[in-house]
Amino acid sequence: MINESMYALGAAPSAIRELFAYGLARKAEIGADKVFDFSIGNPSVPAPAIVRDTVLELMDEDPVSLHGYSPAAGDPRVREAVAQSIRDKYGVPAQAAQVYMTAGAAAGLAISISAVTVPGDEVVVIAPYFPEYRTWIEAAGCTIVEVPAQVPSFQIDVAAVAAAVGPRTSAVIVNSPNNPVGAVYTRENLEALANTLREKEAELGREIYLISDEPYREITYGKEVPYIPAIYARTIVCYSYSKSLSLPGERIGYIYVSDLMDDPARVSTAVAGAGRALGYVCAPVLLQRVVQKCLYEPSDVEAYAANRELLAGGLAKLGYEYVEPDGAFYLWVKALEEDAQAFSDRAKRFELLIVPSDSFGVGGWVRLSYCIARETIEAAMPAFAALKESYEAEK
Ligand code: PLP
Repeated sequence: MINESMYALGAAPSAIRELFAYGLARKAEIGADKVFDFSIGNPSVPAPAIVRDTVLELMDEDPVSLHGYSPAAGDPRVREAVAQSIRDKYGVPAQAAQVYMTAGAAAGLAISISAVTVPGDEVVVIAPYFPEYRTWIEAAGCTIVEVPAQVPSFQIDVAAVAAAVGPRTSAVIVNSPNNPVGAVYTRENLEALANTLREKEAELGREIYLISDEPYREITYGKEVPYIPAIYARTIVCYSYSKSLSLPGERIGYIYVSDLMDDPARVSTAVAGAGRALGYVCAPVLLQRVVQKCLYEPSDVEAYAANRELLAGGLAKLGYEYVEPDGAFYLWVKALEEDAQAFSDRAKRFELLIVPSDSFGVGGWVRLSYCIARETIEAAMPAFAALKESYEAEK
């Protein structure tokens, strides 16, 4: 016998990964330059030189200790350096004891959800949202509660969150800059959310955690990205170096339990327990040491900014509707028919790989990743034109 719900998860890859896998096969079949793959968020900017230099430097260390286990929560030197960087950058009193090194934000989120919920609880997400939230919430035995973002700003609809929070709510997940729409939540919006959650905590007599998923913190186009622990004390940050340092395959990030909440040590101990229960202990040690050297390294957002202009400008000329992104590297485009899956399927006929919005919790849109080669965006424009014409021809 196997666990049927795990079987179902394994048998049905995410819409993003399915399209990505299709793209790899299609490129092998007809040539990489003929497929316009906007499916996955694999950064196209190379990791900064300091990553390579640090790896080479570390190779001179004693291999036995270099490649050995670290404590479950991470190398104490790395945790201290991360805490120091949080103090320096955001002015909050971060302590190493509240930092838990993880294999990317994915592990951080799965751990954090497990740490602050019990089966039967509810976790609120803002739709559209990163599809794996559902997987991690349901794997923890909880129910996902979707709250649509405000349209067209895609800021958090705080009144709708208030209406969705109830006696079983343990956590709200926010993601700013946001995948898939590129929204960056304003300080006012986050303060309003924080006030509402504090009121709800008092009314319901229970703790509500804000889980802040932050892989895109540094990928912004001029907008302030407020530090949420400074706004809402009961915040758990899930940070990742996948996008900021272009290291998605290396699986490295951290959880930071805000020192400003009451009893952060107890929450950090639950994080350590959840990490242990899920088998997420001792994040890749070589990469822990690498990021220790890169904590103040800026992200290279120039290429994404240029791609954003090129893609958004090109689609605007063709008459597509989209949401202007303030951060991350995705464009949220209105599908040309109500059924986003059917639109994505038709786009495939033009070798355009674009992700339908349904698994993000809303219908009628598609997500285009523009962390890809500039030439691919340029070469894809005639295909976008032909896709649109195919709908116009039917009118
Ligand atoms: N959260 C969001 C919003 C993401 O877009 C991603 C990856 O694309 C993740 C979490 C997982 O990132 P990581 O590679 O750090 O596990």
